[in-house]
Amino acid sequence: MAKTLSFPYPEPPDPGAIIEVAPGVLWARFPLPFRLNHINVFLLADGDGWAVIDAGIADDASRDAWQALMAGPLRGERLTRLIVTHSHPDHIGLAGWLCARFGAALVTSQTAWLTCLYESLAPDALDRATYHLDYLRHGFGDHAETLMQFGHRYLRMVEPLPDTFRRIVAGDVLHIGERDFRVLTGDGHAPEQVMLHCASDGLFLAADQVLANITPNVSVWATDPDGDPLGLYLRSLAMIGREVSDDVLVLPGHQLPFRGLHSRLKALARHHEDRFSRILAACSEAPRSVFELLPALFRLPLGPHETSFAFSEARAHVNRMVIEGTLRWVDLGDGTARISPN
Ligand SMILES: [Zn+2]
Repeated sequence: MAKTLSFPYPEPPDPGAIIEVAPGVLWARFPLPFRLNHINVFLLADGDGWAVIDAGIADDASRDAWQALMAGPLRGERLTRLIVTHSHPDHIGLAGWLCARFGAALVTSQTAWLTCLYESLAPDALDRATYHLDYLRHGFGDHAETLMQFGHRYLRMVEPLPDTFRRIVAGDVLHIGERDFRVLTGDGHAPEQVMLHCASDGLFLAADQVLANITPNVSVWATDPDGDPLGLYLRSLAMIGREVSDDVLVLPGHQLPFRGLHSRLKALARHHEDRFSRILAACSEAPRSVFELLPALFRLPLGPHETSFAFSEARAHVNRMVIEGTLRWVDLGDGTARISPN
């Protein structure tokens, strides 16, 4: 029988509290104003202070949670550096504030830095006609306008970044306190997402690449409409399976820390195989737009925030299937892109 996951810390820390999940490894939780209502933040003993993994989203609830943590369990402690795993607002949103408020240096991948500057902080990046036309082309009709107004709002929940950062790349080794962490990066959920692996102590900070009960969102962006983030994601899962042993404690960006990495990697790959089958079945009946595929993949109705994720997630599967040759795009002459089995 396949090995299932185990959860050595089944109760998450209360707001403002911490749990020590390994010697010198602290786990805290911060609120998010979404259906996924929290993010995990880890703190790693780092000489005379603590290195922080991820910052939380830029809103008052998260700022208050940081103040409570630093006035409570971390009173008198120093934050040495903030290592941000990827460019999504729930992870990088408070980076600028946290670094300025507590004197920590920002460490992240170059792509996370640049993507945040572009997607979240560039005034025009999300309002352009590119996105609107893309929604229309894929069958969203009247919904396109709503998605433009509400679907991207969370991307703005980001404070300006510090003026400088320290770039890290795959293969780097970070000396954090007594431990060495090797940097891995993976694409698909976010470009060049950073993960940290301490093989000697069996610790794997997986960011959002591997979560215990959620399939990480994999999105195609209107700015790279033929991109293959799902292909990159599946490649990254295979890389993690080769590079990281099964016995690590996985410390993910959301939900509970767990053991059973390799069975989770296989389950994630199987989930996407299942989606491929459902898409193939749905468009075998008739050519479908990406919008028309959503009922085959998601439980409806979805709000604008969920719809924009669902759309780009469905699109990621379609693009992968087109690239591998299972599907092809067809034009029935009404300006809507539809897919059909090859
Ligand atoms: Zn996240």
